[in-house]
Amino acid sequence: MAGKKVVAFERCACGKRGWADERDADKALGRAQSKRRRQMDSIGSRRGVVKVESRVYPCEVGDLLHLTSESRREYNDRVVVPTLTWEQWQINEGKVAA
Ligand SMILES: [Zn+2]
Repeated sequence: MAGKKVVAFERCACGKRGWADERDADKALGRAQSKRRRQMDSIGSRRGVVKVESRVYPCEVGDLLHLTSESRREYNDRVVVPTLTWEQWQINEGKVAA
């Protein structure tokens, strides 16, 4: 990898690559996207066979920024859907008194 230009990244508390600086994260995002585009060109399809990193989001574990291919909507859907146990769900639905 010597001589190859890579946006410097840090290792996040969650174990993933992360960036402390939003500009660096954006640069890394741009590189990831052009890399994906080249991959798709070599596959011969641009129709979403490969997920493309589409945005930068702040980590929930550490304090770095990560890249994700999820759209903001997917992310929000995932975040607002709580992981409930069966008992919690029943209480939530009013089927069982809390
Ligand atoms: Zn993280």
